[in-house]
Amino acid sequence: MSVLVICYHNINKNGKVTPETFEENLKLLKSKNYFPATIDDVYGYITGKKHLPDKAVHITFDDGHIDNYTEAFPIMRKFDFKATIFLITSRIGILGCLDWNKIHEMNDSGIFNFESHTHSHPRYSLVRPAKEKLIEDLTVSKDIIRENLKKETRHFCYPYGEYDNLYIEALKAAGFLSGFTLDIGVNTPGQDPYLIKRIDARGPASWLRNRLKIYSSPVITKIYRKVRGKI
Ligand SMILES: [Zn+2]
Repeated sequence: MSVLVICYHNINKNGKVTPETFEENLKLLKSKNYFPATIDDVYGYITGKKHLPDKAVHITFDDGHIDNYTEAFPIMRKFDFKATIFLITSRIGILGCLDWNKIHEMNDSGIFNFESHTHSHPRYSLVRPAKEKLIEDLTVSKDIIRENLKKETRHFCYPYGEYDNLYIEALKAAGFLSGFTLDIGVNTPGQDPYLIKRIDARGPASWLRNRLKIYSSPVITKIYRKVRGKI
């Protein structure tokens, strides 16, 4: 038993994931009876506070691209899944990104939830900010989301999937309960909520079909990771 979290970025006809592929992905998850877990369900399940059906999935989008509204939103409406968009708060309303009107409309739909992906999206491995700087950036993103959506953001996604112990300490200090990585795999009760695994959607519909087979079991995932290294 495990919960699957899928990571998307752009959904557009020129990108890695086209609207057609995205729709096929959701259709596939639906046909396999994946339960539509919210981000709080994922957190509750991992921390042992919530039971989920055998197969559960949460959809995530990083960065807050405008095509999440124009392309993904109509498709999400057709299927009964729940999604989180991790916002870079300094980019809200700029060209190519979601603005607050669209974020409000998506939030009000009950399909989308919004959490933090930092304020400035620093490349952690290059910038290596001090812990205080990290906390400041995280707190700014939290303040901006609170001010606009009247909610406390508790979940976080590491830019470029980069993290270390200091980053996790900064997250805790800023009041976050979880961290979503790009480490590949599924999630099980008792694991570290600051190391939530995701599978990064990047290919044709058949790509997800194969990944679902591999990641349908934590045991198979472990063997596969050992054989293939980090994929
Ligand atoms: Zn990002």
